[in-house]
Amino acid sequence: MRRISIFGSTGSIGCNTVDLITRQGGVDAYQVVALTGGRNIESLAGQARELGAEVAITAYPELQQDLEALLAGTSTIVRSGREALIEAACMPVNWAMSAIVGSAGLEPTMKLAQYADVLALANKESLVCAGDLLLEACAKHGTKLLPVDSEHSAIFQAMTGHATQDVSRIILTASGGPFRTWSKAELVNATPAQALAHPNWDMGARITVDSASMFNKALEVIEAKYLFGVAPEQVEVVVHPQSIIHSMVEFRDGAIVAQLGAPDMRGPIGYALNYPARSDLPVDRLDFGALGRLDFEAPDEDRFPSLRLAREALEIGGAAGAVLNAAKEIALDAFLDGEIGFVDMAICVEVTLSKLQVQAENIAKIDGIDAIILIDKEARSVARAYIADTLIEGQKAV
Ligand code: NDP
Repeated sequence: MRRISIFGSTGSIGCNTVDLITRQGGVDAYQVVALTGGRNIESLAGQARELGAEVAITAYPELQQDLEALLAGTSTIVRSGREALIEAACMPVNWAMSAIVGSAGLEPTMKLAQYADVLALANKESLVCAGDLLLEACAKHGTKLLPVDSEHSAIFQAMTGHATQDVSRIILTASGGPFRTWSKAELVNATPAQALAHPNWDMGARITVDSASMFNKALEVIEAKYLFGVAPEQVEVVVHPQSIIHSMVEFRDGAIVAQLGAPDMRGPIGYALNYPARSDLPVDRLDFGALGRLDFEAPDEDRFPSLRLAREALEIGGAAGAVLNAAKEIALDAFLDGEIGFVDMAICVEVTLSKLQVQAENIAKIDGIDAIILIDKEARSVARAYIADTLIEGQKAV
C-alpha cells in the first residue's frame, strides 16, 4: 500500500487531493501518514477519521486541545505547531502533497524533498523562495518532483520525452483574472470582494487575489525557471481568458505542444498522484464545438506590474524571489484587511525589492534555508514599515 502525506489537507488543493484519494480506494489503497491543516480543525478531524491518518497536525498550538477532542477515540496522534509540521515531514512516505499556502510551507517542503519518494508540489512559494536548495535536496535524495500548478503540470506533460535543450520557449497561460479588462483608474478602487471573484478557477483566497493582481503568474514565471531549467527570457506569459490551454512549450523546430483540459485542479493533482500512469479522473471533458473559440492577448505590464517585478527578481537572483514573495504576502494581508488599495500591493513589492537590493551581495548569496528565512523576515519588516509609514499615513494625509 502506498504511504502518503498531505500538507495543507484542509485547503483547496488539499481537499481536492483527499477527494481523489477517497475516490481511488481510500483506506483500502492508501496508508495515510500525516494530514496537516491550520484553523479548519473540523475538516482536518473529518479527513483524519475518514482516512485513518497516523498523525493530524494543526499549525496552531492553541487549537491542539480542540483537535484532540474531535479525534477522541481514534488512533490518530494529534500534534501542533511549526516543529510538529517539520517532524511530520520527516516521516518517510512514497508520495507527499505540499499544499500549505505561502512561505509557511517552505520548511516542511524542504523536509519532504528529503523523505518522500515523490513530492507533488503545489506550494510554489518554496521554489520561488529557495528554488536552488529545493532542487538540490530532491536531486540528492532521489526525490521525484512533480508540479501541481496547472500551468507547470501542463509544461511537464508537454516536455515529457523531450530534452531541455530542445525547448525554445515556455508559454505560460494566464486567465487575466477578474480585472483583465479594467482600466488603471478602475484598479485603484478594486475591492477584496471583487478580487476574490475568479472567473474560471475555484481556489483558496490568497491565490485568487494573486491571480487578480497577476502576482500568481509572477510567482509562476520564477517557478518555471527553476522547474524546467530554462533561462528567464525563455518564459513568456500570454493571457488566455478561457483557461482551457493550461500552458505550452515551443521546441527549437517551431513545433508547439499544448496541454488542454477543463479548469479543474483535480486534473493536475490526479496526474501527479497517478504518475507515470494515467487514471480516470472526475473532470469535465472538453466539447470543442461548444467552446467555439479560444482567445489570446498580450499581458499589460503597465496595469499589472507584477510580471516585470518577477523578471527583476530573477535578474537579481539569489534570495530576491524570497523578498518578492514575502513583500507580496504582507501586501496581500494589508489589502485583504482593507488597509491598502489593490495597486498598492505592487508598489509595496517594488519598494521592498529596491530597498533590499542595496544589500545585493546578501540576497545574491544563500548558503542554506536559514539564510532564506532571515531574508524573508527582513523583507516582511521592510514591507510592513512601508505600508504603515507611507501607504497608510499617506491615505490619512489625503
Ligand atoms: P488554501 O488557503 O485553500 O489552503 C492552504 C492550506 O494551508 C490549508 O490547509 C491551511 O489550513 C494551511 N495553512 C494556512 N496557513 C498555514 C500556516 N501558517 N502553517 C501551516 N499551514 C497553514 O490554499 P490553496 O489550497 O489554494 O493553495 C495551497 C498552495 O497551492 C499555495 O501555495 C497555492 O499557491 C498553490 N496552488 C493552489 C491552486 C488552487 O487551485 N487552489 C492552484 C495552484 C497552486 P486551514 O485552511 O485549516 O487554516
